[in-house]
Amino acid sequence: MRTAPVNSPPRNKAGRTPASGRPSPKAKARAAEIFARFAEATAEPKTELEYSSPYTLLVAVSLSAQATDVSVNRATRELFKAAATPDAMAALGEARVSDFIKSIGLYRTKAKNVIALSGILIDRHGGEVPLDRAALEALPGVGRKTASVVLNELGAEPAIAVDTHVFRVAHRLKLSRAPTPEGVERDLMAITPPPLRTRAHHWLILHGRYTCVARRPKCASCLIADLCPSRALFLGA
Ligand code: SF4
Repeated sequence: MRTAPVNSPPRNKAGRTPASGRPSPKAKARAAEIFARFAEATAEPKTELEYSSPYTLLVAVSLSAQATDVSVNRATRELFKAAATPDAMAALGEARVSDFIKSIGLYRTKAKNVIALSGILIDRHGGEVPLDRAALEALPGVGRKTASVVLNELGAEPAIAVDTHVFRVAHRLKLSRAPTPEGVERDLMAITPPPLRTRAHHWLILHGRYTCVARRPKCASCLIADLCPSRALFLGA
């Protein structure tokens, strides 16, 4: 019996992503087929957050941490009527911003951050949203995930932000086995065909939100079920 050399990459007949290292050609081919199916079903997936400018996008995304897009939209519809620019938001003030967004979790901290980031945009960026990861992540309440969503959505940098939906779907599909969002993001970027990276984030979120839901995923109607190593775990559950 031939044994693999100690340093050879792990064999993976199922085309799943190895626990570490670069994805195999088979794993890449399976990922390409998954994303091709998503593209066929939804050619141009969109964020479900409502916004009308880079600034309102940044605010909406920063408010969406641990909140649903529906609840954020409900709050920002009125908030953005009152203030849709950094100047107007700063003039509105923290107390009034809090009033507009109090239906969202962590609203006091988020209101404080929205006012603080608006001030920084005015003082350091001419009132514009910087399309630069380091500058975005330096803003109060803006972490890697928020920066990735903004940069990806505005076409500045393809990025696959990993939220709870993306994390779950990536693991169920064995596109990643990484235990952290950063690791999953790295694996997804490595395995996603470059022309599809901008849309991959949306496809994975929408798939996790509506089909591959946390409890009782809808495997029977899933358009990539035949490509999913986890299907057998859930069918009949
Ligand atoms: S087959 Fe089931 S577990 Fe796999 S991606 Fe589809 S919904 Fe999720």
